[in-house]
Amino acid sequence: MLTPTRLVIARKRHGLTLTRLAELTGLSTRSLSSYENGHAEPAQETLALLARALDVTTAFLCGEDADEIPVAAVSFRALSKMTARQRDRALSAGRVALLIDEWIDARFHLPITDLPRLTGHDPESAAQVTRARWGLGERPVSNMLHVLEAHGTRIYSLTEENNQLDAYSLYWRGQPFIFLNTGKSGERGRFDAAHELGHLVLHGDHLVPNRPEAETEANRFAAAFLMPRAAVLASGLRDATGERILRAKRIWKVSAMALAHRLYDLNLLTDWGYRSACVQLAQRGYRTAEPHGINRESSQLLAKVFRSARENGETLASVAAAIGISPAELRAHIFGLTLTAVSSVR
Ligand SMILES: [Zn+2]
Repeated sequence: MLTPTRLVIARKRHGLTLTRLAELTGLSTRSLSSYENGHAEPAQETLALLARALDVTTAFLCGEDADEIPVAAVSFRALSKMTARQRDRALSAGRVALLIDEWIDARFHLPITDLPRLTGHDPESAAQVTRARWGLGERPVSNMLHVLEAHGTRIYSLTEENNQLDAYSLYWRGQPFIFLNTGKSGERGRFDAAHELGHLVLHGDHLVPNRPEAETEANRFAAAFLMPRAAVLASGLRDATGERILRAKRIWKVSAMALAHRLYDLNLLTDWGYRSACVQLAQRGYRTAEPHGINRESSQLLAKVFRSARENGETLASVAAAIGISPAELRAHIFGLTLTAVSSVR
């Protein structure tokens, strides 16, 4: 028996309209919509045809009900710039990642969720509270993804077709999730992850967090979390030049522009000083990129999980088959990890 919600997810995952899927399969849009709303049941060969067109197994299409991620549950930085189809595609890819997560969750003991919920707090103090709760003090965060995972956040990579997005996050059945673009610089990736943590901490209790201020709040949280106020104030960076910012950014593993902005925010740079630092950094290419930057962070948790799966005799193909997706689809969600070389990840 077909599970209608799974057909919808698999179709939207590929960014397909009903019309386009009809063209690909030779089925009518009327039949397809009656499958999707549960008014008709496809024959076995039709089911196989749909599965092939959507790069999933027939077992995937007949699995347990998989309700879609509601748009309102997600904080999208680029929400307003996306078409409905792009949004659906990103959310459906996320839904596939949640199915991967279910497979993992059923087999492994994962860290307990330990994120403060600080709705309505000032972002600066919320970042301090979160740091204190996690015992980070004023120290730089050596690996943002590992810290998030250690405190119970599940992190998956955004699939390539969704590269117009930096990241998004949501609570799903009480569990925090972050989906990250892996195409940005290492510094940007850390900031994006901290930004999403800001949404989870500050806006996790709202169903509709997409107020314009929510983005500013999440950015302020990220800056305060990665570059703690007291440590930055004590760093001797008053009136820093572009040159000094480039040396100091390595301490906190942030982009040069993010550090310049933080210094300005903490009144360590004047208006004029901030503007001239930005000009100096832009001349060296730091406005649009991060020359000589750090490596991208990757998931430690997924690397451990899949290393252990391999020790239990699983392959990428067998795990993918158990979930009902292709090995390539599985890899796209898990930072490109493979089961044969999990220790050599980027
Ligand atoms: Zn955001």
